[in-house]
Amino acid sequence: MTPDTRPTLTLLAIGAHPDDCELGAGGLAALYARAGHRVHFVAVTNGDAGHHELAGAPLARRRRAEAEAAAAVIGIAYTVLDNHDGELEPSLPNRRAIIRLIREVRPDLVLTHRPNDYHPDHRYTSLLVQDAAYMVTVPGIVAAAPHLAADPVILYMSDSFQRPYPFAPDVIVPIDDVLDAKLDMLHQHASQMYEWLPYNTGRARDVPLGDVERRAWLHARYAPRFTEIADRYRALLTTFYGPAQGDSVRYAEAFELSEYGASSPRDELARLFPPFADATGLVA
Ligand SMILES: [Zn+2]
Repeated sequence: MTPDTRPTLTLLAIGAHPDDCELGAGGLAALYARAGHRVHFVAVTNGDAGHHELAGAPLARRRRAEAEAAAAVIGIAYTVLDNHDGELEPSLPNRRAIIRLIREVRPDLVLTHRPNDYHPDHRYTSLLVQDAAYMVTVPGIVAAAPHLAADPVILYMSDSFQRPYPFAPDVIVPIDDVLDAKLDMLHQHASQMYEWLPYNTGRARDVPLGDVERRAWLHARYAPRFTEIADRYRALLTTFYGPAQGDSVRYAEAFELSEYGASSPRDELARLFPPFADATGLVA
């Protein structure tokens, strides 16, 4: 199918904090946006606890501005919900909010965290998406928002947690062509990349001051993470892209199908990954 005849797809990534979607799926989002598809990022919390010197509303305002700047890098929508950072609960009101959100965006594809993760906000974001998954098709739930005819495909973003089972990808996406865009998005989250996370991990003194130096430092610190994904799941890369191209990929993002989304999600993967249709075995 050529780009001209291809239907527009909608990708909805739902992360716990401003920067989670960028970390897990910024490359895929950039490829979607570049191909003319719709992308919508959501942070379920406003990030108002993610700093050692700032807190509350001033920090939430700063992080919202960072999210908007990240969205502008690749031209996508970004919604930051006004839940407190570090205090997210898988409550009925929050479930209703996620049901409403998914119905309004009408995604073909939803990305989120896995339910086992070090951060409670990540865990409960995942739980909220899973709790909303089937309910988005039930007319009597959140009746004011028109229900969906079918569940979207739901995929988990990658992580390195081992229990109760390690991340097992069903899809892997080379992001070599969009690594700079992904890092440029992360670069907008200065409060996290250059302040809070280095402080929290004892590396605050390593962070350079200049903008150009920081962007280079970010590349050195984060690009290896995406090389590690490519290397760890190299067999999947060669299965999808063939030995020659699969071996040459340096940076990747990987995604694992959830059982709670579309009923036959594997049948839909080729439809959902058209940016790679020419190069992948995903298209029959
Ligand atoms: Zn997070």
